[in-house]
Formats: sequence, C-alpha cells, structure tokens
Amino acid sequence: MSTETSGIHMNRGLLILFGIILLAIGLFASFYQETHYFLHIGYETVTPYQSIGIVLDIAGIVFIALGFLIPSPRASQTTFPQTNASKTKEESSAIPPPPPPPEQPRSTADFVKKCINCGREIPSAWEECQYCKASQRDPT
Ligand SMILES: [Zn+2]
Repeated sequence: MSTETSGIHMNRGLLILFGIILLAIGLFASFYQETHYFLHIGYETVTPYQSIGIVLDIAGIVFIALGFLIPSPRASQTTFPQTNASKTKEESSAIPPPPPPPEQPRSTADFVKKCINCGREIPSAWEECQYCKASQRDPT
C-alpha cells in the first residue's frame, strides 16, 4: 500500500516535471530565432523551430495537466504538518483525559471507620473516638 502510493506520487511528480521541461523546451524552441544575413540585401529573422516548439508546449501542458488531474489517494498527504496537527487535535478531543479523582473513598474506607456512638468517621486505628470519647471496642 505504501509503495503503491509513493509510486503514484512519483508518477505525478515525474509527469509534472516532464511537462514543465517539455514546456520550457517548447517555449525556447518556439521563440528561438535565427537571423540570416544576406549580403547587400539585409537580413531576416526566422523561427525554424516554431512549429515543433508549439507541439512541445502543448505536450508539456498536457503532461502537467495529467500530473495534476491524477487523483491522489490521499490528498491530505501533501500537507503533512497540518494533517498531523489536526489528527493529534482530533485524538486529544476524542479521548478526553480522565478526570483526576479528588478523593478515593475506597482506599480511605480501609482506614476509616464510623464511630459506633456518634457515627463520625474516625481512623480505624483509633480505639477510642476522639469526638465523643466512646470506646470503639465491641462492648460484648
Ligand atoms: Zn464518637
């Protein structure tokens, strides 16, 4: 899959590059002028490669158009940083960070008990409630 996409990209780039080269050669050829001097008569400028230059121009434009018209499998692949940024943004928005638990009642429950007399939460290590001074030992 990756090799296929890279190959298509290569072909696109090569097509466009080839078209630009053809266009450049065609432009150069079509505007290339030769000056023929005639003794005592003067001179005339001719463009001997104008016809082939036009053909090269058209071919170059066709190649460039083909290069741009080929549908890229991933159009967003050309804009790498933008895609990555949007992707990370998406991921961060899609998966919200878990809210930090302010309290962990389960763990504190292991160390907290309720006073048998007043019902307040006191450390389970206390044998005597510090609020009501009631003994936490089972009276029976
Ligand atoms: Zn108490």
